[in-house]
Amino acid sequence: RKSNEMATNEYIDGIVKGDRVILAQAITLVESNAKRHFEKAQQIIEALLKKSSGSIRIGITGVPGAGKSTFVDSLGTYLCHLGFRVAVLAIDPSSNVSKGSIMGDKTRMERLSRNPLAFIRPSPSGGNLGGVNRKTRETIALCEAAGYDVILVETMGVGQGEFVVRDMVDFFMLLVLTGAGDELQTMKKGIMELPDLVVVNKADGDNLAKANKAKHEYNTILHFLKPYTSGWTTRAVTASALKETGIEDIWQLIQQFEAYTKKCNIFHKRRSDQQRNWLHDLLKQELYQNFYQHPKVSQQLTHFEKAVMNGERSVAASALDLLDLFVKDKN
Ligand code: GDP
Repeated sequence: RKSNEMATNEYIDGIVKGDRVILAQAITLVESNAKRHFEKAQQIIEALLKKSSGSIRIGITGVPGAGKSTFVDSLGTYLCHLGFRVAVLAIDPSSNVSKGSIMGDKTRMERLSRNPLAFIRPSPSGGNLGGVNRKTRETIALCEAAGYDVILVETMGVGQGEFVVRDMVDFFMLLVLTGAGDELQTMKKGIMELPDLVVVNKADGDNLAKANKAKHEYNTILHFLKPYTSGWTTRAVTASALKETGIEDIWQLIQQFEAYTKKCNIFHKRRSDQQRNWLHDLLKQELYQNFYQHPKVSQQLTHFEKAVMNGERSVAASALDLLDLFVKDKN
């Protein structure tokens, strides 16, 4: 089986040339949970670090049914018409809960998936949200090295997906439906503070008047909130992903946002802050896992638990003793 595997250099060359098959294979390597694949994937990513071009990373969230896949299909197709190469990635917070992912079940973005300028990758499965998060970030890096100009990262408005995606993109948009009041009721705390743009989707047909009303309601609410990106006004606009109206205006706004954030250095600073946050997230995850999996720790843990539950030992001293078991063994 090993002899069938491509060498690291073949992956790197293929990605740089924009070979979609090799890109897809490299992503599979990144998504693999095998240690051997991990090491190879890291070599590829490190070699490609400097190759990332002037991409823009756009996050899209919204409750199931808000029209995310239809919207990505329309926006992506529009961008391909303009000559951009578009990569679509998904983070599916459900993939760790249920076997089948919510997103994977549907035939999504049919038109965009046939476009030679587009690359669509469904959500990685397996592992916790942290694992999926790592895989998606590394997939972004590979797509950028392969020359994709626009990276669309989509997540469901369930779980912690929005917060995770917000911290890996430059621009974040929230897709909502009409009836701002109703939707706000079901929206998680803090979500309205994340986006750079709110899109009231399905502004078409009989729904048009209601969509315009919702737009005004959202703008009133947004007026009282601190925008996520300082100096930028997060506003609500209407669009129809189905009828493809409002898409062009949204792209204009994204370009304005990019120009503004680049001018005042928010763009670059945000990306480097995201890298630092990611490093710390990974360290926390790794330390946590390694600690609890450590043979001496897992052997002694129940003993310490009992001692603190019975009031025989202090909690703080026990925690330090357990950490000592872990740390001293490493030296
Ligand atoms: P997702 O779950 O957020 O990805 O939503 P989908 O893109 O799957 O859309 C859910 C349903 O809403 C589908 O039946 C779409 O055809 C429909 N839909 C999406 N966008 C629009 C729109 O702009 N107008 C109308 N009328 N229907 C839409």
